[in-house]
Amino acid sequence: MTIETSIGLAIGQPYTYHQRDLVEPDWRRLPGWRDVTETEWRSVQWQRAHCVKNVAQLRAVWGDLVDERFYADLERDQRERATMSMLLPPQMLNTIAPHSGSAGVPGAPGSWTEAVYADPVRRYMVPVFSDRRTDWPSHPYAQRDSLHEHDMWVAEGLTHRYPTKVLAELLPTCPQYCGHCTRMDLVGNSTPTVDKLKFDLKPVDRHDAMLAYLRRTPTVRDVVVSGGDVANLPWRRLEDFLTRLLEIETVRDVRLASKALVGLPQHWLSDEVRAGMTRVAGLARDRGVALAIHTHANHAHSVTPLVAEATRAMLDAGVRDVRNQGVLLDGVNADPHALLDLCFALLDGAQIMPYYFYMCDMIPAAEHWRVSVADAQRLQHHIMGYLPGFATPRIVCDVPFVGKRWVHQVAEYDRVRGISEWTKNYRTSIEGDEVDLRERTYPYYDPIHTLPPEGQDYWRQTGRFS
Ligand code: SF4
Repeated sequence: MTIETSIGLAIGQPYTYHQRDLVEPDWRRLPGWRDVTETEWRSVQWQRAHCVKNVAQLRAVWGDLVDERFYADLERDQRERATMSMLLPPQMLNTIAPHSGSAGVPGAPGSWTEAVYADPVRRYMVPVFSDRRTDWPSHPYAQRDSLHEHDMWVAEGLTHRYPTKVLAELLPTCPQYCGHCTRMDLVGNSTPTVDKLKFDLKPVDRHDAMLAYLRRTPTVRDVVVSGGDVANLPWRRLEDFLTRLLEIETVRDVRLASKALVGLPQHWLSDEVRAGMTRVAGLARDRGVALAIHTHANHAHSVTPLVAEATRAMLDAGVRDVRNQGVLLDGVNADPHALLDLCFALLDGAQIMPYYFYMCDMIPAAEHWRVSVADAQRLQHHIMGYLPGFATPRIVCDVPFVGKRWVHQVAEYDRVRGISEWTKNYRTSIEGDEVDLRERTYPYYDPIHTLPPEGQDYWRQTGRFS
């Protein structure tokens, strides 16, 4: 027995690594998709045409596998809390309760309803009213555009926050809507509680204005091409934008943001997209530009063989890297085992590089998902040492007016009131020389329900709650 083996077996480790095969759950276990063929399932047109957009459509898929109380809970959430409307491609919906068979007595322990309530993907893609906190559903400092991206627009939809990089929001839609979306201010359809911001310019004018800014701003070398999700832009429009972007000499990194690689891999597997990506990646390679895709998986169940196939297709087309930017969410993945299982599924199974886990941003009605900075630090500690260093994700706090900071970079931290202070070493596009970077700190707030009683009392006394 080798030393490594004896350590692994005799001492035992907090996390035990096993190589696991990826699994595509059988969609035919669901009443609404009993007759759906493999060809239909692999078709992006079929997937888009059968997206679930409301409770009635969800009921048509799950039928009475799931109790009425769940549907009522969901309807109440849609009316009173949801910041995102409902939109799930079948691929994504199929990863909810993946191990539940078609049998089961509604309402019984171990039933479909219980599996659905407990499911990590369901908890962020199909949030229900009873998930949310009733004491402090929103932090008093929660904001619709919590990262103030809109304030930093240098052209409509183009956020210039860091010195050398920009975020280009090409469109305000996605093939799937995540309950915790940080861009809930802009992305998706309006809900009863959130009237969404609308772009003023036509897409073509907006894209032109972004490119014009990049041409006249040579200090920007890195462009995140995002939205929304670029998978919702007709391919020829995306290719046209990317081709013009790649003509700008000073642009050296281009990252395409698409959760659809996980939620709708059929899009990235379509002939049109594969052929188009081969052209764009060839252009990037000829110009020495690093072209990558950034996707967004929050749980190992989302990483299925089809996701691996789509990733392989993009790497074969010439994309240099596919990376994952997940969100740390209580009830979904805020646990060392869940994070490591996800990272190994991404890395071993799908060749996707675990890159970041963001702390969930301070948007309204998100307190049940958010964790404290202390918890995020603890999780970062627990996942160190298992993955290769280059594939060990950083857990980051996206601090308003600052940007991403590793959770251990906090400058000061009042754990009783849950107020952390952060520094930065650059000015954003809305700050001038008057900002003294040596003096200034910026606050971030832990969820109040995670604080000790005296910390919770402090917030009660501020009177900021009604
Ligand atoms: S895919 Fe990204 S932009 Fe779209 S809803 Fe989800 S988190 Fe928001």
